[in-house]
Amino acid sequence: MSQTVSMEKIVSFCKRRGFVYQSSEIYGGIRSSYDYGPLGVEMKRNIKDEWWRGVVHMRDDVVGVDAAIIMHPRVWEASGHVGTFNDMLVESRTSGRRYRADHLIEAATGLDAEGMSAEEMTKLIQNDDRIKDPMDGGRNFSEVRPFNLMFETYTGPVKSPENIAYLRPETAQGIFVNFKNVVQTSRVKVPFGIAQIGKSFRNEITPGNFIFRTREFEQMEMEFFVEPGTDEAWHEYWIGERMRWYTELGLDPANLRLYEHPKEKLSHYSKRTVDVEYNFPFAGWSELEGIANRTDYDLKQHAAFSGENLSYFDQATGESYIPYVVEPAGGVDRMALAFLVDAYTEEEVRGEQRTVLKLHPRIAPVKAAVFPLSKKEPVSTIARELYDDLKGDYRIFYDDSGSIGRRYRRQDEAGTPFCVTVDFDTMEDRQVTVRDRDSMEQERIPIEAVRERLANLITA
Ligand code: ATP
Repeated sequence: MSQTVSMEKIVSFCKRRGFVYQSSEIYGGIRSSYDYGPLGVEMKRNIKDEWWRGVVHMRDDVVGVDAAIIMHPRVWEASGHVGTFNDMLVESRTSGRRYRADHLIEAATGLDAEGMSAEEMTKLIQNDDRIKDPMDGGRNFSEVRPFNLMFETYTGPVKSPENIAYLRPETAQGIFVNFKNVVQTSRVKVPFGIAQIGKSFRNEITPGNFIFRTREFEQMEMEFFVEPGTDEAWHEYWIGERMRWYTELGLDPANLRLYEHPKEKLSHYSKRTVDVEYNFPFAGWSELEGIANRTDYDLKQHAAFSGENLSYFDQATGESYIPYVVEPAGGVDRMALAFLVDAYTEEEVRGEQRTVLKLHPRIAPVKAAVFPLSKKEPVSTIARELYDDLKGDYRIFYDDSGSIGRRYRRQDEAGTPFCVTVDFDTMEDRQVTVRDRDSMEQERIPIEAVRERLANLITA
């Protein structure tokens, strides 16, 4: 089903069920900003928890940090963001619209424009008749100029150049500048990693595709520090690990692939980059995560700009060196979109249409729903007790309104993997019915066994 679901359908589904809303909607909305609703926020937390569990807690060689969004402005000079974190911008004089010049060129000519200079792009756009303003077909374009993607702000009350600060465009630099702190204050030894989850900001020229590309988004990045010479093997290792994470959480392997960045197009810091891509039905193969071999570029830059010694002393060999870094860097929002699209299913079962989100139980916003067959005593009391018993472990939903069939359909749409029904027999036999979202099969088990059964099913 995921191959046929349209963007419109996903957007309206997300709104209707409280996954994602347009930000500031009552004021007409603001482009490229979205808010996560009651189901969306649970799902997003689950994605982050699963990443943290897989990348930090399940390992003994990765620790976490949570760095500030506003950092010393020199950080962004050292990292290269002030000088080179640009997209090429061109304005159409007929419609007044601004476009990413590389996107315009690529769409009209099929030419790969990444890496071209502003002058080369200007020449191409002004001379090639195939390149037109997608809005009105006009061919009156401005010169192409680099546009820096960082959001600028000022610290303190005075808006002067020396008070300029930036909202971080990636979480990675908050890790690099804490490398020394972490080495000195925890017992890590190379090879080891530092992970971080947090908001990043990029003033994208053309945000779009719902939560795929926004100006404010959340990243999950891990910098894995290794001895130079072992970096290529560790890079391979992390590519495998990250791919495994996606498939273990239920993304269809047919919709996942690895994309190797061509050598000549690598970012200034990268020796090799491989993306994990997802085949979105409305956008084709698109990046979910980049896994880069960043070499010793960042630590060397920060050492040079800060004057600090950022080398690592290996106690076993008595040698010092600047570690190489392998970085898996993913976006929570893009992953949320991929999980939603992959799970969204419309199917006919026994002559009835149903919409069901076949999310992995670990990702599902609500793990189980508890239904009393009747609102009356003692059925409702038993159901309440069961709900109270379960609710500390997971997000559990209690629903006593409408027919059981309707209650099931509501939970199917929310992606709730299990529904537990307390009925009139329960008071006699102390048993309840557990219904599986995907197979719709039901089993009857003792009420005392529900908690353990759910724990097993959810972590399976
Ligand atoms: P793209 O080429 O799509 O702009 P990128 O290669 O610049 O992405 P990275 O700098 O590698 O992205 O950032 C790591 C991850 O952060 C991306 O794989 C993506 O999941 C996420 N990300 C980057 N930019 C955005 C954005 N504007 N909106 C949502 N997520 C983003």
